[in-house]
Amino acid sequence: MRFTYVTLFANLIQGYFQDSILKRAIESEKFEVAYTNPRDYTLSKHAKVDDTAVGGGAGMVMTPQPLFDTLRSLEEEGAYIIIAAPVGKPFTQNDAKRLALKSHIVFVSGRYEGIDERVIETFADEVFSIGDYVLTGGELPSLVMTDAIVRNIEGVLGNGESLETESFETPLLEAPSFGKPPVYEQMGVPSEYLKGNHSKILTLKLALSECKTKYFRPQQLLKHKIRTSYEK
Ligand code: SAM
Repeated sequence: MRFTYVTLFANLIQGYFQDSILKRAIESEKFEVAYTNPRDYTLSKHAKVDDTAVGGGAGMVMTPQPLFDTLRSLEEEGAYIIIAAPVGKPFTQNDAKRLALKSHIVFVSGRYEGIDERVIETFADEVFSIGDYVLTGGELPSLVMTDAIVRNIEGVLGNGESLETESFETPLLEAPSFGKPPVYEQMGVPSEYLKGNHSKILTLKLALSECKTKYFRPQQLLKHKIRTSYEK
């Protein structure tokens, strides 16, 4: 699988792949990364990629020509184009799993006041937001989505099981985990966790998952209840 990042600031992205799980995944050829700078495609004499907005308004907008030429060349390679934008669809774990099956994803990072709408209309296969807040650029959102996607590529995580029990694999959030030692600064762990009866531990974890979900994501608990009532 390949990820190409269309960005004015590749170095903001590159550092993330230089350590830990994603570094090892690239070394073992689970996925590869490439970078394209729209500035390399601009026909402007002064290598400009932004301009004031048509109709006025604060700030600069990324102009169509450099991005049209960049994305046209990537589109010819059959890439799946994703644009990061606060107005996009909220990115979820289901999107991460679905997109892990693509062979080539292009992430387009906006800067300034964002990307000319005609670029989005012409090239975006999908437009995603990573949350209801505004960041200075699309590089972090592109990395957040990449990280969530590559965890779902076979062999990227050491322990395949860890995916199945994680939050968002079902509507329930993950139950609390505790690392050793079992008592730390006079704080213990639920005593059932220590007794080694796996079916009782699972029952307790399910109850704790429901409590966490009720507290942090009440809507998710509702989904869980509807799903389990169908299964009965
Ligand atoms: N003027 C835009 C608006 O109000 O929607 C915000 C532009 S933002 C300063 C610049 C770029 O950062 C965007 O084009 C987008 O690529 C990226 N960005 C910022 N926040 C984001 C978010 N929550 N999700 C995805 N991308 C985001």
